[in-house]
Amino acid sequence: MPTLDLDLAETSVFFDFDGTLSTVDIGKHLLERLGPPEWRDIERRFVRGEISSRECVLDHWDMLPHDEALLRDVAREVPLDDGFGPLLHALRRARAEVTVVSDGFGFYVYELCAPFGVKVLTNEPDFTTGRLEFPHGDRCCACSSCGTCKQAPVKDARSRGRTTVLVGDGTSDAKAALLCDVVFAKAELGEWCRRSGVPFIQFESLADVADALVGARL
Ligand SMILES: [Mg+2]
Ligand SMILES: [Zn+2]
Repeated sequence: MPTLDLDLAETSVFFDFDGTLSTVDIGKHLLERLGPPEWRDIERRFVRGEISSRECVLDHWDMLPHDEALLRDVAREVPLDDGFGPLLHALRRARAEVTVVSDGFGFYVYELCAPFGVKVLTNEPDFTTGRLEFPHGDRCCACSSCGTCKQAPVKDARSRGRTTVLVGDGTSDAKAALLCDVVFAKAELGEWCRRSGVPFIQFESLADVADALVGARL
């Protein structure tokens, strides 16, 4: 993949977590392992645009046992893409800003990103009440229906004059993809970009993203 000509010191890179940094979507993995098969009906309604990402993640959360130890154990069955560490290192060396944005169950995103010390915006279950909380929702956003608003931090970066890059794979990345200067997409997000006429760079793993973003600087 040819290297993009970006000034990374002026660039903010937003990574989706599930299926982008993790090799498999951990939310779906939890639902597959611990939830009823009806979780797929909810997912289909979300992909078709019939329900919002917040409704989707809330309905899915209610389909899971709210047993923290069990959820964490099952989440740990999924490895991260081993290209993340080297890519993050190269981006930091080039003074790019890096943020992980995730509109899932949140708890495993904090846990798995902690060793990297990277900024995370996601939802957060309160395991004592069993409620899923939305500390990064944005009532002013155009979507008004996200759990974690992925558009809000992109708008913030743009208003600071930064070039914005999104790396994602899912329907919850679509609204941020509309705003970003460069979009790396695969799976559902790639299909959505194609249908919607949003230019994107197809990727399979983070090694492809590293090739295009940092190239020989890795
Ligand atoms: Mg994803
Ligand atoms: Zn939003």
